[in-house]
Amino acid sequence: MSFTEKKPSIWLVAGSQHLYGQNALKQVEINARLVTEGLNALGLPFDIVYKTMATRSEEATAFCRQANFDPDCAGVITWMHTFSPAKMWTLGLRLLEKPMLQLHTQLGAHIPWDSIDMDFMNLHQTAHGGREFGYMSARLRKPFTVAVGHWKEDRVKTRLTDWMRVCAGLFESRSLKVARFGDNMRGVAVTEGDKVEAQIRFGYEVDAYSIGDLTASIAEVSDQQVEQLVSQYEDLYTLSEVAQKGGSKRQNVLDAARIEIGLRNFLEAGNYKAFTTNFQTLEGIKQLPGLAVQRLMASGYGFAGEGDWKTAALVRTLKVMAQGLPQGTSFMEDYTYDFEPGRDLTLGAHMLEVCPSLAGTKPVLDVIALGIGGKADPARLIFSSAPGEAINVGLMDMGNRFRLLINEVTVLTQPQPLPKLPVACAVWTYKPDFVTGVEGWIIAGGGHHTALSLALSSWHVCSLADELGVECVVIDQNTTIRDLQNELRWNESFYRT
Ligand code: MN
Repeated sequence: MSFTEKKPSIWLVAGSQHLYGQNALKQVEINARLVTEGLNALGLPFDIVYKTMATRSEEATAFCRQANFDPDCAGVITWMHTFSPAKMWTLGLRLLEKPMLQLHTQLGAHIPWDSIDMDFMNLHQTAHGGREFGYMSARLRKPFTVAVGHWKEDRVKTRLTDWMRVCAGLFESRSLKVARFGDNMRGVAVTEGDKVEAQIRFGYEVDAYSIGDLTASIAEVSDQQVEQLVSQYEDLYTLSEVAQKGGSKRQNVLDAARIEIGLRNFLEAGNYKAFTTNFQTLEGIKQLPGLAVQRLMASGYGFAGEGDWKTAALVRTLKVMAQGLPQGTSFMEDYTYDFEPGRDLTLGAHMLEVCPSLAGTKPVLDVIALGIGGKADPARLIFSSAPGEAINVGLMDMGNRFRLLINEVTVLTQPQPLPKLPVACAVWTYKPDFVTGVEGWIIAGGGHHTALSLALSSWHVCSLADELGVECVVIDQNTTIRDLQNELRWNESFYRT
């Protein structure tokens, strides 16, 4: 978990009541602490802090209020150890703004058939109490996640881990600052959107800068800093002949390093974690920032080209959610198809800006002419994505709401070399099949820019969308066009307000 400076914590509360006496309550608290310690020993992304036991509405409300106000609390786990009559949770759950996971577990995995008596039953009644609590959450229309199973089991660990990734995404989204250098690419519709509504809904703070602000930051970079960074390039990548020391395009590599440092310094100074560029707005920059963008993405920044701040923010959010996982997450664009019924595929790339976290092998650093932007030949990393199951996620402003659109895809090993296309790329097929995947994406208004993640699943993004109150449409192995059309129509009613 290295992309965020501050590691948030998760709070746990045990729900109970006074019906069974003080000894029972003492035991509930002892068990809740024991389970918290046990969960922390599983190696989850964030630490769980046992906070309190709630047995009255005053306690339940106070817990929820404290969780809201603590800036480091990224989510709460509720465990109804005994029966906790849910009216006491009414105000607390109405107020609670942090994501919630209902841990539907019990201290022991098995029923002690020979010795179980009424006292044991009364103390270990999550099966019963969890339903009462779930009713109140459902009655209040509160989004929440449920983890079912014994707390030592992998299925509980998996659900907790996945949910904590969603908490991390929400935590990041609500304070995410995006810097834009220039505006959107002229004429393009899908990259536009309501920035005020995006801040209300997602938390994105989107600020525009002139390219002159960036050139000023680049001008402050010293030659020594550039040399140091280029020696890092030499450790990490295979440099082409022209990019090596003494090579004919070596200066372009030095210029790219200078751009990277200036850009990084600018973003750090403003606490921006995502940014956009536009190849139409590069006045004073020697080359299109390709290598710089790729390396910033690899260190956790969100990015999208052509002023696409929505996708840049999405890439950052997904990167935070995927922290610690070996598979990559990147800005992506569907480029060109290979049509062959049954074996159709898509070549995805961008001009240069694909994140090396996707790379299956050591990237090549090369400097080659680019026929767009009218600048010096840009440095870039060239590689092909590692294969694997992935999600391709788009974010569109539909006028009355934002829509997150997910297509589950399978990234393939690049089938052929691309000797005349010196860019980073990925090759994939769509679920449920090529035609339905593409047709569905277009019907749903999905744009050409996406966040591609081999690390996350649809579950992560759908759960994040639920927490944000944002529409989320999934095209997966079960999708049919008729069902998708209906879902889009029904969603039009659901999101009318
Ligand atoms: Mn583009």
